[in-house]
Amino acid sequence: MATKKTKKNSVKELFAEFPNMYEKAGKDEVADCMEYAEDYKAFLDICKTEREFVKNTIEAATEKGFVDIESKETLKAGDKVYASIKGKGLCLAVIGKTPVTEGINILGAHIDSPRLDLKPNPIYEDKEACYFKTHYYGGIKKYQWTTIPLAIHGSVFTKDGKQIDLCVGENDDDPIFYITDLLPHLGSEQMSKKANEFISGEDLNVVIGGIPLTDIEEKEAYKANILQYLFDNYGLVEKDFVSAEIEIVPQMKARDVGFDRAFIAAYGHDDKVCAYPAITALFEQERPNKTCVCLLTDKEEIGSYANSGAQSVLYENFMMELLAKTENSSFDLLKYRKAIANSKMLSADVSNAFDPKYASVSDSRNSAYMSHGIKLEKYVGSRGKSGTNEANGDFVAAITKIFAENSIPWQTGELGKVDAGGGGTISAYMAKHGMDVIDCGVPVWSMHAPYEVISKMDLYYTYLAYKSFIENI
Ligand code: MN
Ligand code: MN
Repeated sequence: MATKKTKKNSVKELFAEFPNMYEKAGKDEVADCMEYAEDYKAFLDICKTEREFVKNTIEAATEKGFVDIESKETLKAGDKVYASIKGKGLCLAVIGKTPVTEGINILGAHIDSPRLDLKPNPIYEDKEACYFKTHYYGGIKKYQWTTIPLAIHGSVFTKDGKQIDLCVGENDDDPIFYITDLLPHLGSEQMSKKANEFISGEDLNVVIGGIPLTDIEEKEAYKANILQYLFDNYGLVEKDFVSAEIEIVPQMKARDVGFDRAFIAAYGHDDKVCAYPAITALFEQERPNKTCVCLLTDKEEIGSYANSGAQSVLYENFMMELLAKTENSSFDLLKYRKAIANSKMLSADVSNAFDPKYASVSDSRNSAYMSHGIKLEKYVGSRGKSGTNEANGDFVAAITKIFAENSIPWQTGELGKVDAGGGGTISAYMAKHGMDVIDCGVPVWSMHAPYEVISKMDLYYTYLAYKSFIENI
């Protein structure tokens, strides 16, 4: 027989409420949120690629006392360590007071973003102009990448073992790069095509020059001039591009949106808007109760493959090393597996925010809204939840309890209506090791566009949510 609740609730208390935090937050909170946003924008502007995010995070971590895990024979409470994953992913940990076997608290985010990569043989000349050929990376609407200022970021690895870093387009006096589109006067045939057809992948060729080399008898004088420039300035020859990792990214810097500066537009919010709160939450840990870990992964936008993606054992190796080095270098596989099974993780990733202009793709009762706080997403996937990690109900309850105790505003929702589409994150790859995982991050407008928008409130409360999770779960 059901027992009758003795404490009488007011009817209002029976309803779930997810208020807009610009309505609810006090003046001081809004000021803290605005200040946090300034630091985020500055970090984002120097971290457009995964390599840049790793490099700058290691620099910031080193200042906070983190050292390469290789330099430590054993680990004790309060130690701070990191391991670079091929320069494109990063693991960080602050060792806790309780043994690793009792489980670790993990924040996992990805640091790659949709972009255009150079093809292995990218440079060509056509009708007195010179171009880079590209191959897009991740899910993009190709037409969005034309007629916007682009920058070139990346590294070239030469056969004599040198790494040459390139970053062109970010300084005010740098040139930018550009993909042309057709003028509307001649665009009637193009405009009658479907949006996923009128700019094809092979159309995403980037203008890189238009002055010929004049003092030689070279058939491709425009290309020759660019090759000469690349050799004179970087020591590069054409074949070096085969061993290059060059990314074409939007040149735009992170900027406030709106008269009231409620929002931030930037390239690569997905998923640096979750990676940044994750690292700043970790940086505040000195001697946590449980060992706290931050995993920053690569290749999420293309399926988390390769040795730098979340499916790589290199991330596991780091966690194995945490166990081995806190247990005086003894390692036991079953002990490790049980430690991971006792672990808890927030898969810190963005999701869509309800956009009233495109309301038809969302269920308004199961959508996240801008400025309503961090989005807890119990599952993602598509076509009947296919491919998702679905968080266990008891784990969701444990998290919402922590959020309630720490006054963290949160909301929930799905990625669009049933059968409207869908997506994936790194959560399933981590959950298969036995740990509890839930997707949990910042809602985004225009997700995967070259210039995405988030709310400063959601950024700030996501940081506080991640902090309260690793400190209390
Ligand atoms: Mn993402
Ligand atoms: Mn994405």
